[in-house]
Parts: sequence; C-alpha cells; structure tokens
Amino acid sequence: MKLTVLGCSGSIPGPDSPASGYLLEAGGTRIVLDLGNGTLGTLQRFADPFQVDALLLSHLHPDHCADVGALTVLRRYHPDPPRDPVQRRLPVLAPPEAPERLAALYAPSAAERAGTDLSDVYEFRPPPEEPVHIGPFEVRAFPVTHVCPTWGFRIAAEGRVLAYTGDTGPCAELTELARGADVLLSEASWADFAEAPDGLHLSGRQAAEAADAAGARQLLLTHVQPWVEGRAVLEEARERFASAELVEAGRTYTV
Ligand SMILES: [Zn+2]
Ligand SMILES: [Zn+2]
Repeated sequence: MKLTVLGCSGSIPGPDSPASGYLLEAGGTRIVLDLGNGTLGTLQRFADPFQVDALLLSHLHPDHCADVGALTVLRRYHPDPPRDPVQRRLPVLAPPEAPERLAALYAPSAAERAGTDLSDVYEFRPPPEEPVHIGPFEVRAFPVTHVCPTWGFRIAAEGRVLAYTGDTGPCAELTELARGADVLLSEASWADFAEAPDGLHLSGRQAAEAADAAGARQLLLTHVQPWVEGRAVLEEARERFASAELVEAGRTYTV
C-alpha cells in the first residue's frame, strides 16, 4: 500500500507542513487518516477529494480534524458533485461525539446549524470494535492514552500492515496496535525532557521503545511540534530503533 504524508506538523501547522493527515492507497481504494489544519489543500495535489472512500479520525483535536470543516464546504457546495447520493456521503470513522463537534466546527450557532447536521455529506460511524473492511483494507481501532478519547488504527492490505498511533502517551495498547506491523507511523511530539507531561504524547525515545516492544519492522516518526528540533527527536529514536525515519509532508512511502 502507498502512504502519502499530507501533513506531519505536531499540534499546530508549521512553516514546512500542515498538521496531521495521511492518504493511504491500495487497489484503487483511498483512505484518509486524520484531516488536520491545511491537509485538504495537500490532498488535492494527490487525489480528488470525492474519490476518497473513507475518512478515519483518531480524535477531535483541531490538528487532526480542523479541515473537516473545509471538506464539508467542498462536498456540499462543489459545482459538480457526484450525482449518486450514496457517493456524496463519505464514511467517517470517528469518536462518537464527532457528528455534534464537527457540526459545531462548521456552523457555531444552533440557529446556523439548523438543518446542517452534516448527514447530507458524511456517514458517521464510531471507531470499530471489530475489524471492518473498506475495499482491500481491513481496519482495526485501538483506544490509546491521550487527554480526550483517541484511537490508533491498524490497517492491513495487500499482505502488509500499517499501524498509526494518532496522539498518545505510552500505553500497553500501543504494543497490540503495532504488533509485528510492517510500518509503525508513530507520533513523536518532542525529544525527552524532564517536565514532559504524562499520558499526552510520545518522545522520540518512547516511540522507538513502542516500535521495539511491538516488533515493528519500520518506524516512521511524525507529529514533531514545530518548536521542537526534529533532528533531536530522530537521534534519540535511533538509539533504540536504528532504522527510524522522520516523515516529510508531500512524500510518499511504500508500506
Ligand atoms: Zn496532535
Ligand atoms: Zn491530540
């Protein structure tokens, strides 16, 4: 499967990248993983947004879902949308509060929201407890540790497995999520520092420990905050997991 990084800047967009978002392609099916600030622009470089088969949201922090507001405008007001009403409704696997939260993101007041619950353009489903199939992809969701309900996704296709952490602190679920994965696409928001808050994000070292514990084959580091030196994150990760790499926005990786 093909992984294209739409954005990899941690917590906010940065000077060189939008916030978090990834395009996954296999056998002509396209999944978008997270749609943070600015990622809808990059997505249009690589795919027609109407040709995306599903959107998976790890959680509802703006750096992972802010461009859903923009996508709503595109899907609702594009002058030449798909005629088929089923095609017009994009499946969105997202935390249970997503329909209400994303409607409020689109139209803040209840009066403006009347009649705009987004069900004309999205079909919301909670993160699945059992594996679900989207074209050739098998998707499993794992709850991880963050300040709000957050899921990581384990996605298999064409005999390969990609594990994506979303935002997470160190937790046992990471090992299940990434067990034997071909690629662990892991957040690594910062390099270790003494006052780092617990249960919020991973350092480069912690991402590498998770990859090592899970027996992942490759570690791709993402979500480095723009005020953090990426090289320091990479160096501490490589002490534990020699082949770790920092992803770049606009680059495509083969899983
Ligand atoms: Zn984030
Ligand atoms: Zn977050």
